[in-house]
Amino acid sequence: MKKEYSKMDVSLLHLANKKVVLRLIKDHDEISRSVLAKKSGLTPPSITRIVDELITKDQLVKSLGVGDSSGGRPPLIVKFKNQNNLIIGIDLGATYIRGCLVDLNANFISEIQVPTELEKGFYSIIDKMIKVVNKLKARKEPDAKIWGVGIGVAGLVNSETGIIESSPDFQWSHIDLRKELEDQMDLPFFYDNSTRLMALGELKMGLKSHQKNFAVINIGYGIASGLVVEGNLLKGYSGFAGEFGHISVDTDSEVQCKCGMYGCLEALASGRRIASLGKLALANGSSGLLEKLSMGKEELITAELVAKAAKKGDEASLKIYEEVAEYLCKGIGTIANLLNPETVYVGGGVSLSGDLLFDLIEKKKGKYLLPASSNVAIRPSTFGDQATSIGAVSLILEKVLNLELSSLEEG
Ligand SMILES: [Zn+2]
Repeated sequence: MKKEYSKMDVSLLHLANKKVVLRLIKDHDEISRSVLAKKSGLTPPSITRIVDELITKDQLVKSLGVGDSSGGRPPLIVKFKNQNNLIIGIDLGATYIRGCLVDLNANFISEIQVPTELEKGFYSIIDKMIKVVNKLKARKEPDAKIWGVGIGVAGLVNSETGIIESSPDFQWSHIDLRKELEDQMDLPFFYDNSTRLMALGELKMGLKSHQKNFAVINIGYGIASGLVVEGNLLKGYSGFAGEFGHISVDTDSEVQCKCGMYGCLEALASGRRIASLGKLALANGSSGLLEKLSMGKEELITAELVAKAAKKGDEASLKIYEEVAEYLCKGIGTIANLLNPETVYVGGGVSLSGDLLFDLIEKKKGKYLLPASSNVAIRPSTFGDQATSIGAVSLILEKVLNLELSSLEEG
């Protein structure tokens, strides 16, 4: 019996073919229509129709006209139009709101960083985010298009609905950030957990983006992870996979985590923990250097200051980092033995202390790794403090390349 193709089948097929062609053009930057036909397996008339649509309707591709011929018909070259097609990435952190404006090849055009000032409350944060987006918008060429805004937030973020189910850093629960922002701005906004976005950034744009199995752990104010398994970012049943900060690394611990449990990795090895151990060292007079560096002021003691003292040979500070590195190695060992990643990337504020932390991890990790996992590389994340913003950009770029955003506009 002859199969009847519905209109729906045809338009889905067209969209699927268009995605393939757009990917090929993006990956090659410049490519001829005849090579596109060869590589995609589509007929020349199909290629002509799709490319014309990408040029006129989607404006993601431009024609460079006729290229050099090596005999035969001169090729018609098309180019991915990255300039004038822009994305905004926002890293909404507990300490800073970082924003960047980049083109579709992830070239930075502009960046902004403002303090979050948690204590000023929810609407102050919304205002700041809108100001960051508006300032970045004002820095684009008048005819450039912003495709969307990707936002990374610490906490349990439902990437489908944009609802922040809970964020202990912000003390938010069930917050509809998307509604607040979209009510005030005419741009598509997309959200995910900041550490998962760091992993997406490594996957799509990192130095070793060919890797299919890796983990990103984010050690900052809290601790979280983004896990890439067989080339896919792990989401989990309810979209909350990767809560690495809440695995137990000390069942006898009396240190209570923000989640209510005791002995969580986050409670024992986050930036907040390092700072609180530093404050304790100041209070009991065990670190002369911390006292000097903080001028005796408890509120000036941060994880960064403790790292500074440790690097200068302060014993109490070094002991704090030794303890934290031990717990981190326990956690990293769990991930490595469970998932067998090629690399564990370490990002977040605490990772920026550099060699101090990585040398300690290198020294201690062997205790917690099975021989089969012992070849795991542990290295700093590719993008440093821009990792979440780059991930947020990757999120939008994927939506542009999958043509989800242009179809959204039509709807
Ligand atoms: Zn916890």
